[in-house]
Amino acid sequence: MRIDLSADDLSRAPLSDVMAQAAALRDAQWGRRVSYSRKVFVPLTNMCRDTCTYCTFVKHPDEPDASLLTPEDVLRIAREGEATGCKELLFSLGEKPELRYAAARDALARLGYERLTDYLRDMCALVLSETSLLPHVNAGTLTDEEIDLLRPVSASMGMMLETISRRLTRKGHPHYACPDKVPVQRLRTLERAGQRKVPFTTGLLIGIGETWAERIEALHAINDCHTRYGHIQEVIIQNFQRKPDIGMANHPEPALDDMLRTIAAARIILAPDISLQAPPNLHDRHIQYLNAGINDWGGISPVTIDHINPQHAWPQLDQLAQSCAAAGYAFEERLTVYPKYIRDRAEFLDPAILDRMTLMARADGMAAQQILEAAQ
Ligand code: SF4
Repeated sequence: MRIDLSADDLSRAPLSDVMAQAAALRDAQWGRRVSYSRKVFVPLTNMCRDTCTYCTFVKHPDEPDASLLTPEDVLRIAREGEATGCKELLFSLGEKPELRYAAARDALARLGYERLTDYLRDMCALVLSETSLLPHVNAGTLTDEEIDLLRPVSASMGMMLETISRRLTRKGHPHYACPDKVPVQRLRTLERAGQRKVPFTTGLLIGIGETWAERIEALHAINDCHTRYGHIQEVIIQNFQRKPDIGMANHPEPALDDMLRTIAAARIILAPDISLQAPPNLHDRHIQYLNAGINDWGGISPVTIDHINPQHAWPQLDQLAQSCAAAGYAFEERLTVYPKYIRDRAEFLDPAILDRMTLMARADGMAAQQILEAAQ
């Protein structure tokens, strides 16, 4: 793994210098434009075989609000999204709950399925056949066969690498007893997605106990994978958020300067064509984040909450547009797949998905119908 003096340099150089370098790199590749994707969020199931101690999304199957959405639920949420101008439908789900819990197996069996991935595939197909939305799938670690199953019915996929630290899987750490959070398993999924030409989103979760060197190592690992396959369309730098009902309720959140330095380091390390994103609802320092080198705010929903961070409302889109304008950037809507794959990399998209996306995109690959307000 490539770790050299640059990790030290990036941690010791004046923050303003590192941010200025990152911002210049961003401007050279992405110009004076910051993007977002208008999405509706479908939490297909909140049951999961893992138990990450920072997670508020997951519910034990015995809890009353554990759920597996029905096809009717999926379509209802999808239509709400369609009605408010969404183009992306984000399927978010826990990892393989049926391998651990009888209640999850029973819930799937009631819908006629044995495996969550098969149900997810069919829900993606349903969304494609019944709505105008493009599914993006966040299904965690995936096998070759699962990726092959999902690829024809999803425009893009994602899985946060989160951290490369195996140390954090030990007892007393956030990924203890989480089989899908063993870093090598997540790196394998990144690799498989590249081999199968899937436009892929990944990223780091900052402040869960990882060291600076581990962050830098993770960024290099992502970048190395992208160098081999060209499939990493975006990297998210997300800050850990303390919440009262999680195992890490007393764990400190990362400081603003730490986030800014990490974002800037990511921009400097990652290939320029990898979009750099930070969720806009987990902080209120939008202009500082722009100055650290991001070029995208990720998926923002006008109809559904952020189910991963339900206590943090999405900012109004016009506020984000104002922040962008104040920093000298235009604010524009993109699709779930970034323009370069739509315009120049047809091999990354199933032909039917590409046909649909081409109709939804401008000549430059951004969304043809630009909506920059919270709701219509
Ligand atoms: S963070 Fe993801 S993998 Fe971990 S418990 Fe929550 S849903 Fe499961």
